Amino acid sequence: MNTSMYINGQAILGNGNALDVNNPATLEVITQVYSSAFEQLEECVAKAKQAFTIWKNLADPKIVEAFHAIAEDILSQKEELARLITLEQGKPLFLAQVEVELTVQWINYVAGLNIPVEHYQEANGKKITVYNRPLGVVASITPWNWPFMIAAWHLFPALKAKNCVINKPSEFTPLSTIKLIEIINQHLPAGVCSLILGDGKIGHALTQHPDIQKVTFTGSTGTGQKILENSVSTLKSVVLELGGNDIGIVLEDVDIDQVCRKVFMSAFLNAGQTCACLKRLYVHEKIYDQVIRKLTEMINSQVLGNGLEEGTTFGPVQNKLQFEKVQAFITDALEHGATVIRSHQLLPEKGYFIAPTLVVNARDEMEVVQKEQFGPVLPILSFSHVDEVIKTTNQSEFGLGASVWTKNLQKAEKIAEQIEAGTVWINSHADLSPEAAFGGWKLSGLGYSFGLGGLLQYTHKQSVHITAA
Ligand code: NDP
Repeated sequence: MNTSMYINGQAILGNGNALDVNNPATLEVITQVYSSAFEQLEECVAKAKQAFTIWKNLADPKIVEAFHAIAEDILSQKEELARLITLEQGKPLFLAQVEVELTVQWINYVAGLNIPVEHYQEANGKKITVYNRPLGVVASITPWNWPFMIAAWHLFPALKAKNCVINKPSEFTPLSTIKLIEIINQHLPAGVCSLILGDGKIGHALTQHPDIQKVTFTGSTGTGQKILENSVSTLKSVVLELGGNDIGIVLEDVDIDQVCRKVFMSAFLNAGQTCACLKRLYVHEKIYDQVIRKLTEMINSQVLGNGLEEGTTFGPVQNKLQFEKVQAFITDALEHGATVIRSHQLLPEKGYFIAPTLVVNARDEMEVVQKEQFGPVLPILSFSHVDEVIKTTNQSEFGLGASVWTKNLQKAEKIAEQIEAGTVWINSHADLSPEAAFGGWKLSGLGYSFGLGGLLQYTHKQSVHITAA
């Protein structure tokens, strides 16, 4: 199993502390990786800076060719990669396969983007050309929930814009990202795409480094804020994709069975460990009880277990900290008078398993409603007037996403217009597209990803004014 870092295209072990990588379904140690020493980080940045002098001048068709070759290699190793994702992350194998497939789709989409050049001609004959130039070396810090796909979301737009990138995966799930960087390094020049491991200090050192021009980070709001602080002295730009507390608003006219199937998937996808998951559900009082009944059926139909075993539909929470955090939300809700409905399924004896849980008769002021749970628990509240729910939605400190569920699309679009969030879905949730901007308002983030706009976040403008001598 590859446990290397990648510096200047070379697979190299970290000189720092040994870190266990655990299987969250069995609590067994899969392997150990070694965190980077500070000197290794310095070398990594220096080599990336050197590689940039070549990479920034490479013709775009060569980059497109390399991206397609990487995508093909990933697809040809889909089964092996999916097993690795399941082993370290915990999600069921079918979902890990989807993660690999989506990654391939995203890489091919980014390959096809063209970086625009603007041309202007003034009346006096002066010509102006506005270019989108690469930045230099970009740092990418990726999380443990979708370790393979989110790494690709960070890396490929930055590379396509002709930057060099240094990725630091989560210490909980480094293995599938290492494999991704190994494949990338088989197709790109040395130093263009590197990987560094850390255990509590490297992320800070990397994002503070004066030779890093930009930081792209997906994770908690608190760490995002620290990264923003680190950007001040050198005025680096950042893309921060942080927490959310996405609301789902279900109006009374819906087809309950159909909507509940989709709501279940949107809330419990990846055991709820997805920033864009639906995290609190507001249901019109006329259909509240029916929705609870249907969602209870849905949670009871899940098969909890090791994602590598056939038939498993629901995996564990990825790590101990998250496991304890989610349990604490459920306990707090119970202590404050909510009713908790848990799936009937027996939990496996070992592993960070939490049964999919509905918190019924939840109230706005409960922690499980106010905060991001990032786990398999969904608070459900009832409402009588949609205007009240829109007000509640906008009182949140987060503004990542929201969804409206109704047959009345016109009404839904009017509601969407009033919601303070980066994405509003109508009759779906969390189904992202490589073309559509994705980013959070308020404490959910800064900057955005995806589409040409997302790619251009990895460039700066240069206007060249040409006057004839
Ligand atoms: P964090 O958000 O704290 O991110 C940890 C990563 O950030 C590590 O790679 C770490 O590197 C790096 N890091 C930590 N401090 C700094 C710093 N000051 N400057 C730069 N980098 C730093 O993740 P956790 O895993 O602890 O998760 C915490 C919470 O975040 C979860 O409970 C969940 O709610 C949320 N989360 C959100 C995700 C999302 O998709 N938006 C994904 C995952 C989690 P090093 O080890 O070197 O310090």
